[in-house]
Order: sequence, then C-alpha cells, then structure tokens
Amino acid sequence: MHPQPDLEPACPTMTTSRDVVIVGGGATAVSSFTQLAATLSPGDSVTIVDPNPVGFGHAFGTSDPLLLCNTSVDVTSLRADDGSDLLDYLSSRGWPAHPEDFVPRYLVGQYCRERYQESRRRAERRGVRIEHRRTRATAVRRDGTGYTVELTDSTALFATDVLLCLGLDRPVLPEPVRRHAGHPALLDAPYPVDRLRGLPRDAEVLVLGTKLSAIDAALVLCRDGRRTVMTSPSGELPAVRTRLRRPERPLLDADRWQRLAPGAANLDREVARLLVEAVNRADRPLPLREQTSPADAPAPRLERELALAAAGRVPWQDVVAEVIDTINDWTAAWPASTRADVLGRYRTVMSRYISAIPERNARLLAGHLADGRLSVATGYPTSIEPEGPTSWRVEWPDGRVEHFTHVVCGTGFQKPQLSLAGPGRYRIGPAEPGAAVPEITAELRLREPQHPEADRIWVVGAAAHHRTAIVNYLNAAAKQAARIAAQFAAVPV
Ligand SMILES: Cc1cc2nc3c(=O)[nH]c(=O)nc-3n(C[C@H](O)[C@H](O)[C@H](O)COP(=O)(O)OP(=O)(O)OC[C@H]3O[C@@H](n4cnc5c(N)ncnc54)[C@H](O)[C@@H]3O)c2cc1C
Repeated sequence: MHPQPDLEPACPTMTTSRDVVIVGGGATAVSSFTQLAATLSPGDSVTIVDPNPVGFGHAFGTSDPLLLCNTSVDVTSLRADDGSDLLDYLSSRGWPAHPEDFVPRYLVGQYCRERYQESRRRAERRGVRIEHRRTRATAVRRDGTGYTVELTDSTALFATDVLLCLGLDRPVLPEPVRRHAGHPALLDAPYPVDRLRGLPRDAEVLVLGTKLSAIDAALVLCRDGRRTVMTSPSGELPAVRTRLRRPERPLLDADRWQRLAPGAANLDREVARLLVEAVNRADRPLPLREQTSPADAPAPRLERELALAAAGRVPWQDVVAEVIDTINDWTAAWPASTRADVLGRYRTVMSRYISAIPERNARLLAGHLADGRLSVATGYPTSIEPEGPTSWRVEWPDGRVEHFTHVVCGTGFQKPQLSLAGPGRYRIGPAEPGAAVPEITAELRLREPQHPEADRIWVVGAAAHHRTAIVNYLNAAAKQAARIAAQFAAVPV
C-alpha cells in the first residue's frame, strides 16, 4: 500500500502483513472490499485506486432519478447470500422498498458509498489502514514477493494482493461514427447524463442503439421534449419485465443443464426443453408464445409486451435469475472460444430477455412513441456525416436523407482489457498488437500463459469476462467477491 516515488520495484524483501490494492472503486470493488475486510488483521492495509469517489462507479454513480436499475432490489446487492442487503439498507432508511422493485440507480450508488464508509470505519478501528488514491492504474508487475501497481501519476503502490474491479468505462463507438470521435455534437455515451440534459430543448437527436443505454438516453432526451430517433441494426427493443429476482423455489433443473456438453448435437433442443420446463413450473404458467408479442415492428411489440407484463402474464421473467447463474456455472470451465461460439448462438435471445427493461421504462417509452416524440427507425443508417458543429446528415437504406443536430451513442461499453506486457507485467487497458492475454484460473486469478503458478491478482466483475459469461450483473460480481474473500480467509499471506 506504500506510495512509491517512481516505478522501481516497490516490494519489501519480506512481508508479514497483507497489503491489498483494489483497482476500481465502483460497486464491484465495494462488494469485494466489504467482504474481504473481515479477513484482514491489524497492520494490514487496503488501497483503492479510482479517480472517482469510492462507491460511485459508472453503473450506479448517476445522479438522475429517472434512470432505474433493470434488476430488482433482491439481486442488486453487495452480498449475494440469502436476503438482500440493499433491501435492508433501504428499509432501515424508511424507503418503502420491496424485493421486486427496480429502484433508481443513484440509490444503489448511495448504498455502495455508505456500505464502503461503514466497512472502512470498522476496519480502521481494528487497525487496518485504508486509503483511496484518486488516480488510475495502468499495469501490475510481479516483483519478488509481491506486486507493484503502476499508476498514471508515475507513482506506484506495493501490494501482496491485487484485485482488478475495472467495470465498464470505455464506450463502444459504432462504425458509422467512429471516425468522427471528438466531434462536438457526437456524444460517445449517454453518461454522464448532464450532457444530455444540457442539449437544447429543440435538439433533434439520433440515438444509436436500442438496448439499455440507448433507452436511458431516449428517456432523458424525450422527458424534456426533444425529438429523438433510435436506430440499431436489429431495430429491436428489449422485452419487458416487472421483476428480476430469485425464485422462492428452484424452477430450473440446473443439474441436468450442467451435464449438457457444449458440442452436443441436440444442445439447442435440450436447452429449449429445460427452459420451457422451468417456465411451466412458475406460478401461473402460460405457453411461451402467449408471453411475448409476434409483432415485427418495435412500437406495437412494446405495447403488447407492456400489456402482458402489466397483466402478470410473463412467467418467463421468473427463470431469468437462475438461468444467469446456471449459464455462468455451466460455461466457467470452458475455453473462451467455446463459450463465445456456443453463447453467440443465443446472443439475441439472451440480450432481449436477460437484459429486459422494467415495466416503468417500457411505459415511458410507449408514451413517447405514441405522442411522436420518439421513433425507432426501421433501418440502420448507411451514412452519418457531420455538416457543421451541430448538424448531421443521415442517409437511410431507402435513400431518404434526414438531418439531426446531435448523435448519441448508446451502443454499450468495451469489456476491460488485460494483456501481457513482458514477463510478469499485466497491462490494464488497450493491448499492444500481438500481446498475449493472461489466463484466468478457476479461482479468478491471473496466470501468465505457460507459467506454473497463478498470481495473487484477482479479476472481479467485468474484468473476469474471459471466465464468466454474464458479468454485467452486480449479483454475479458479489458472488465472485465472496469466493475471493473465502480464498483470503483460507490462505495466509
Ligand atoms: C449504465 C449501466 C447500468 C447498469 N445497470 C445495472 C443494474 O441495474 N443492475 C446490475 O446488476 N448491473 C447493472 N450494470 C452492470 C454493472 O456493470 C455491474 O453491476 C457492476 O457490478 C457495476 O460495478 P463495477 O464496479 O464493476 O463497475 P463500474 O460502476 O463501471 O465502476 C468501475 C470503476 O472502476 C474505475 N476504473 C476502471 N479502470 C480503472 C483503472 N485502470 N484505474 C483506476 N480505476 C479504474 C472506474 O473509474 C469506475 O469508477 C449496469 C452497467 C451500466 C454500464
């Protein structure tokens, strides 16, 4: 944890205390910190490295109450064991929260912040030193008995153990606008949403994307009356749900699912069979075709699926939490290429139902669509070219040309990148061409290819995407953090 003036090896020759460096300070880092803290002893230290205040990462650090979680209180918790710590937090502050509610994301940010501060105070009372360094880490280097965490301010930290909780902070710029990066009327992401709120009320905005971050953008823009057009290659909006919570009794035959081989010829049929059986075990089961809309056009499909959700006719939603856990367990030991091949086949359906939107958001979108403020384009632009500081010329596949004042990318975020930058040196961020990618072991530790031992460097949340299929889910990160805390408790320094 000791700050170093330069990048020389930072490790003492022998250490009896544990000096933990956590890179990233969002919800995943707080989940890791709060679960690890109990395993630490007097004299140990924890340094959290993040330019942002700890607790307010990108996912939950938003300040706009319009933006909701798309996961219920039940599973949006820093701990993944029984009960919901978020529910306890909200209830103890007088919020009339229910496990099924989709609460505003800023409340989860507040919850993370407070849990971090409480846990920090408790650890400090026990003699554990805690520090927050407001900078970014660029690499982690193995040095004799420990690690040197290199920082952007040209200093370094010594660590016996490192946790990489990097989250998602680099937006994906889609092809038609990539070369216009930096244009003043091109927003690379909807966040922070103050940028959207600051656009003129008469702005005419093209939002690229029709999934979660694009929907956040559309809701903020349309709230203030801006004409907004959403577009994506699929043109498809997510399904609508009224809850994402753990079922009271298991609905899915997870054991049978775990026995399915990734190369099995009948895999698709077996997966479909297991899903249908699970949905049929839900309360008020319905044939699957009665739970969704067959409409092709996004607006009538949204209307119909909103009505089904509001009428409680979407029992598919009650198997989603189990499906996520099962897919993560099922694919954890597979080579990354097998995971990508197999899950790639189900990507469209997974993204539509696993990343479904809360009924409240669907209702707002349907209202904006009905009153003409919002539309979802039937095609994807063939070209998007700037015509001036606040004017874009957009050409559609049918040859029509339309003009917008602003373009907003709601096309998601790049997964964190880790690569080998020399023996024992892991680079954080975009890799050099041809750089090797470290292995992530079953314990979520990094290992150099061909190296006999894994390093005491753990990846949690999005940084573990080479090992864990569905990482954009706090519940999955909290489970990983619990496993890492158990390893800390079991293995001394
Ligand atoms: C807009 C959005 C909404 C989401 N909504 C939900 C939801 O409703 N429910 C749910 O379960 N999941 C949601 N997710 C998924 C979310 O990514 C996970 O839940 C995750 O656990 C969030 O916490 P995090 O700490 O991993 O990431 P983040 O919130 O992205 O925080 C990561 C932090 O790491 C810091 N960081 C990154 N790189 C470095 C570096 N090199 N050095 C120092 N600091 C660094 C960043 O500054 C940031 O503060 C959402 C994600 C996004 C992007």
